[in-house]
Amino acid sequence: MKPELQALLELQDIDLALDRLQRRKQEIPQEIQQRKARIEALQREKVQLVEHLNQKKLQIRKLEKEILAAEQTLQKFQSDLLKLKDNKEYQAKLHEIEIQKQKIRQLEDQTLEVMEEVEILEQELPAKQRELERQIQEIQARVAALEKEFQGLDDQMLELSSRREAYRTRVPASLLKQYDRLRHLVGGRVVVPVQNNTCTGCNAELPVQVVINLKVTGEFGHCENCGRFIYVED
Ligand SMILES: [Zn+2]
Repeated sequence: MKPELQALLELQDIDLALDRLQRRKQEIPQEIQQRKARIEALQREKVQLVEHLNQKKLQIRKLEKEILAAEQTLQKFQSDLLKLKDNKEYQAKLHEIEIQKQKIRQLEDQTLEVMEEVEILEQELPAKQRELERQIQEIQARVAALEKEFQGLDDQMLELSSRREAYRTRVPASLLKQYDRLRHLVGGRVVVPVQNNTCTGCNAELPVQVVINLKVTGEFGHCENCGRFIYVED
């Protein structure tokens, strides 16, 4: 391989690495933001778990009060019953008492249901909290890693940029001009190997004679389809 081709490929490696760092610089803040939003959602979920349980406990206390009030009403009905002389009124009161008893039974059933729910929620709570906390910590660790990566980007880019300048001096000026132009127009990888008589930049098939020439001379040419530098690997 000709030294100028070697120099061009090395320059390209640095430029591609710089491209990657530049991309990361744009991507990372967004990635951090998404993860922080997820952490907030998980923390809300953690609070809601306890809130839900407390609401259920509150519901039990409310039901217990209702039962107490209903029992007092029942007692009143029962003492009223003793005072009644008229059979029709007596029967009506008996009916009222029966309805009141039903109401109390329903409230008691309802209370039992909610108590069972509370029992299950209380049993499940620690494991659910631990799982949410585990997820939060995992994402926090990822955020810390991303922040560290982001902080290191400028130094890496600075270091690569100075290496880039050194490598650019090794490439002949006319070649450098073509390279810069292609980088500007096409972007990404502009010096590409030929594989199976095909330009690996644009996948166009190349004339066999062109490929043979490249192979024999160790020089590079241009793909007639996309204009990229093409060469045959040793
Ligand atoms: Zn091509």
